[in-house]
Amino acid sequence: MTSGLTCVAGLGVSGTAAARVLAGRGERVVVLEAVEGDRQRAAAAELARLGVEVRFGASAPPEGTTRLVTTGWAPHHPLVAAALDRGVEVVGEVELAWRLRPGQAAPWLALTGTNGKTTAVRMLTSILAAAGHRALAVGNVGVPVVEAVGGPYDVLAVELSSFQLHWSSTLAPQAAAVLNVAPDHLDWHGSLEAYAAAKARVFERAGTVVYNADDEIAAKLAEPHAGRKTVGFTLQVPRAGQLGVVEDLLVDRAFCPDPVHAAEELATLADVRPFAPHNVANALAAAALARAHGVPARAVRQGLLDFVPDPHRMEFVERVGEVDYVNDSKATNPHAAAAALAAYPSIVWIAGGRLKGADVEDLVRRAAPRLRGAVLLGADRARIAEAMARHAPNVPVVDVAGQDTGVMDRVVTEAAALASPGDTVLLAPAAASLDMFDGYPARGEAFARAVHELGRRG
Ligand code: ADP
Repeated sequence: MTSGLTCVAGLGVSGTAAARVLAGRGERVVVLEAVEGDRQRAAAAELARLGVEVRFGASAPPEGTTRLVTTGWAPHHPLVAAALDRGVEVVGEVELAWRLRPGQAAPWLALTGTNGKTTAVRMLTSILAAAGHRALAVGNVGVPVVEAVGGPYDVLAVELSSFQLHWSSTLAPQAAAVLNVAPDHLDWHGSLEAYAAAKARVFERAGTVVYNADDEIAAKLAEPHAGRKTVGFTLQVPRAGQLGVVEDLLVDRAFCPDPVHAAEELATLADVRPFAPHNVANALAAAALARAHGVPARAVRQGLLDFVPDPHRMEFVERVGEVDYVNDSKATNPHAAAAALAAYPSIVWIAGGRLKGADVEDLVRRAAPRLRGAVLLGADRARIAEAMARHAPNVPVVDVAGQDTGVMDRVVTEAAALASPGDTVLLAPAAASLDMFDGYPARGEAFARAVHELGRRG
C-alpha cells in the first residue's frame, strides 16, 4: 500500500481493473482518460461508486501523484512523459499485479513473442488443465493480471506484450518463454533493439528460460542466462536440453529423466491443430513451460487434443468449388503472414491494410513460389503490389480500391476468379486492419461472410 496518490492511465480493460483493485485496497486513485464516450462514462460511474475519481481530458498527473499505472502507453505519450519528467514512478498493470500478489500466490508461467502468444498461452492452459491444475490465461490475452492474482488458481499462464514488459521490472515467473522476435511496433519502441530488449525482460528473473532455438534473436536473448536452466525448442531433432521434433513426434530432451541419452515422447504432429510448422513451435513452447511446472508428458498430448484454436487464426471457413478459404485475419504483420503462407502449397493471397512501416520484400520473395494470385486491399496495398512486381512478376495481382463495406465481397469474388481446384484462398493481410475495419476480428468476419455468400451463389 502506498501513502501517495496513484494515477491510472486510461479506462481500458486493464486500467479500469487496476483502479478497481487499488481502490478495493483502500488506496487513493485517480484515473485520467482522454476520450469521454458512452463506454468511458459507464466505466467512470462504476469506479465512482468505489471512490475513484475519473478526470477526462487531463494531460498531466495531478499534484501529489507518486505512482502512475499504465497499461501499454508509450514512454513518449504526453501523460507518461510528464510523469517521468516529475520523477513519478511509472509501473505497468502487470508489474502492479506482481507486486500485489498475495503470499503463497500461484506461480506464473509467462510467454512473449512477436507472434503466436495467444495460441501458445491457450495451448498452455489446456495442457495445465489436462494435468489437473486450476489454470487461467491472463495478460495480453484479455484478462487483466491484476484481477487474477488473488484468484483461486494453482498457476497463471501469462501472455505478455512488449509494451507490458517495457513497464515491468521485477517479475519472477517460474518459467518464461520467448516464441520469436521479428520487427513490429517499432514506432512504439523506437528500434528493433529496444523492442527485443523489452521482450528479453521476461527472462530476467525467470526460474527456467525457454527460447526458440530456430529464431536467431530469441536464441540471443537467452544467451546471458546460460547459468540458469535454459531450454531451447526447435522444429529439428533436439539436442540434449531441448524440446523438438523426431519424425512425426514432439519429444522432450530437457525435462525427461535422462536427457543425455533419451527423449520422452510428448505428442504426435497430428495432435497439433491447426496443423502448421509455427503451431508446432507454439505447442513445443507451451509444452516446455508446462514441463517446467512439473506436468507429465501424457498431459501435454491430452492438452493439445483438448485445445480449441481461437478464431481468425488459420481458421477454415468453407470449401467452395474445390477451393479452401482460410481466415488468418490475425496475421497483422509480415512475420505472421509468412507463417500462414508457409503452411499451404498453392495460394491465392489476400493481403493489405496498414503496414505500420513494416517491410514486405522478404515476405513476398519467400512466398512467391506458392502464389497463384494476389488480391490487394487497404491503405498500403501499393507497397505490396510493388514487391509482387519485383519478386513474383508472373503472378496475377488484382488491386481492389475503396473503403466501403462491400470491399471484402469484391475481394473474395476476385480471389475466387484467380483460384483453381486445390488452391487455398488465404486471408493473411500482413498488415493492421484499422484503416478499413474495427479490428482484425471485423476484417475476418467480413471475409467469412463474403465466402459464405460466394458458397450460396455456388
Ligand atoms: P499473438 O497473440 O502473438 O498475436 P496469435 O496466436 O494470436 O499471436 O497469432 C497471430 C498470428 O500470428 C496468426 O495469424 C498466426 O498465423 C501467426 N502465428 C502464430 N504463431 C506463430 C509463430 N510461432 N510464428 C509466426 N507466426 C505465428
